[in-house]
Amino acid sequence: MKRSLPVDLSLVLSLATVLGMAMAVAGRWPAHELLGALLAPGLALVYLAGGLPTAWRAVSELWRAHVLDIDLLMIAAAIAAAVVGAPFEGAVLLTLFSISTTLEERALGRARRAIEALMALRPETALRRTAGGAVEEVAAGELAIGDVVVLRPGARVPTDGVITAGRGGIDEANITGESMPVSKEAGAQVFEATVNLDGVMDMTVTKTVGDSTIARMIRLVTEAQAARAPSERFSEWFGQRYTVVVMAGAVIAFAAFWGLGREWEQALYRAATLLVAASPCAIVISVPAAILSALSAAARGGVLFKGGAALETLAAVDTFAFDKTGTLTNGRAEVTRVVALDGDEARFLSLLAGLEAGSEHHIAAAIAREVRARGLEVAKVVDATARPGFGILGRDEDGPLWAGNPYLAEEMGARIDRHELRALADTAQTVVYLGRGQRVLGAVCVADEARPSSAAALAALRRGGVRRIVMMTGDRRPVALRIGGELGLAPDEIHAGMLPEDKVRRIAELTRDGKVAFVGDGVNDAAALARADVGIAMGAAGSEVALQAADVALLSEDMERLADAHRLSRRASAVIRQNLVFAIGAMLLLVTGGLFFDLPLPLAVIGHEGGTVLVVLNGLRLLSDPIRRPKPRG
Ligand code: ADP
Ligand code: MG
Repeated sequence: MKRSLPVDLSLVLSLATVLGMAMAVAGRWPAHELLGALLAPGLALVYLAGGLPTAWRAVSELWRAHVLDIDLLMIAAAIAAAVVGAPFEGAVLLTLFSISTTLEERALGRARRAIEALMALRPETALRRTAGGAVEEVAAGELAIGDVVVLRPGARVPTDGVITAGRGGIDEANITGESMPVSKEAGAQVFEATVNLDGVMDMTVTKTVGDSTIARMIRLVTEAQAARAPSERFSEWFGQRYTVVVMAGAVIAFAAFWGLGREWEQALYRAATLLVAASPCAIVISVPAAILSALSAAARGGVLFKGGAALETLAAVDTFAFDKTGTLTNGRAEVTRVVALDGDEARFLSLLAGLEAGSEHHIAAAIAREVRARGLEVAKVVDATARPGFGILGRDEDGPLWAGNPYLAEEMGARIDRHELRALADTAQTVVYLGRGQRVLGAVCVADEARPSSAAALAALRRGGVRRIVMMTGDRRPVALRIGGELGLAPDEIHAGMLPEDKVRRIAELTRDGKVAFVGDGVNDAAALARADVGIAMGAAGSEVALQAADVALLSEDMERLADAHRLSRRASAVIRQNLVFAIGAMLLLVTGGLFFDLPLPLAVIGHEGGTVLVVLNGLRLLSDPIRRPKPRG
């Protein structure tokens, strides 16, 4: 429902109406003549305070959007009550209506304010190094890409950047929801609004404040809250059609009661009662109350839903497909073996690292770490182009180079038949070959490990009723079997050797018998994320691709939050169901009472407004749902 009044104003109005009510009650039992004399002005006050703003809202809505607002039903009922000489009943109606509107507004406001909390975390100023080497304080909004900023202990990082000097622990709870500090040194990414706990560091700005991760989070959550979920669209559509039906129904009921021989006053009173009893306030508010609360609870735990639709679809998912590398595994792979066919490991590794320097793949990062640990130079390689799912191509002064898996070797016409290389084929590790044209120069083995949280998360998903879990990887089958085995996956749930397009095709097949979620890390799997009913990106804080392609973004690397998010989505849809059943049930009961049992207007009002408030409160329970919240820090 459109509520345009500021909360505090409507609170004042409610208080005024309560005051009026007290006078009205005193007037009903005329113990005191003075109170009796105050009755009429008291009632008039209630009608003015409670009715005028509502009428204004309803009429402007009718004028602006040609929408018959539910508020209009309330006004009509109150006026009808006054006309037939039951102004006290009308006053009760207007009072309770104002109070419940205020309560709803407060509740929904609380759910919406998660976003303001995010804003408050953003620092306003930064310490920027000037060309002369001095440090000046500037507004964070003035920072430009490439500026060098000094991070002092205890201060918040002013925008996204990369550490260039110093080291220290950073509390990233604001972004990822993770309460353990992360230690950072040169080369590490840092995010706006995270807290530098100790250490003095220099960072180079990589994103302006308008583009930072937290800025995008805020945009996402705001858009998510504005977007309508399918069931929400339904309840809105229903509310509008239904208001017309109720209006017409009340007119017919009036005619029928009158025709059946009642006094016209009595017929009008009963029609007004029906109008209130049949109003769909509770039905219309039940869905947004639940969805807003769930979206906010999730955002606080570092899980961003791009809208209520994603929340509702996730609840219906019964197949989860996981990417392996960087998703189920931790993405901190390690080089475990190096085979250089000409015997010169240092030159071989430096060439490989030079080529991989242009890649964002976890394998590339592992190779870079190895080369740094060995203190080797990185060879100069240009024109690097990724071949997603295969490897990478490039060129140095001696000509073109490639690095990748056996598929890529085959494509290059290179044969992996030397016995030093064939020995690698059996390992349960990823093997990366480096070659120049048809000649293979050597290979490295890269081992990655399942994330500690993966096994628990998969188990929790199964407990939560997920029917099928599959792993999809472009890696070789032995590696996939080893990791899958550690996570408790059966061999037929493990699909290896898949190219990015194979993943997309397989997901399309899976969607034929049920809703499918794909969980990836945004490296090579944006297409699969987009194809699934719900695309979920892990560790999205640093990855733009993942944030864009996914419907749900897990900012942290903690897989168990995925299970939490799934559970939350199921709870939200259960709450929505409860609310709808309750609201429709209560309405039927009240309408039956109004039609056949002479239900008095005040009772209809209490039932109707009480039901609306209950439904909102029930939705609000989701707000405190524990997607594990980090302990607050000083
Ligand atoms: P996953 O599906 O497990 O996330 P990818 O689709 O990202 O894996 O990659 C599949 C395979 O392609 C990897 O196991 C690796 O053999 C090869 N590959 C991809 N990118 C690279 C790269 N930059 N360097 C070397 N090999 C790569
Ligand atoms: Mg991957």
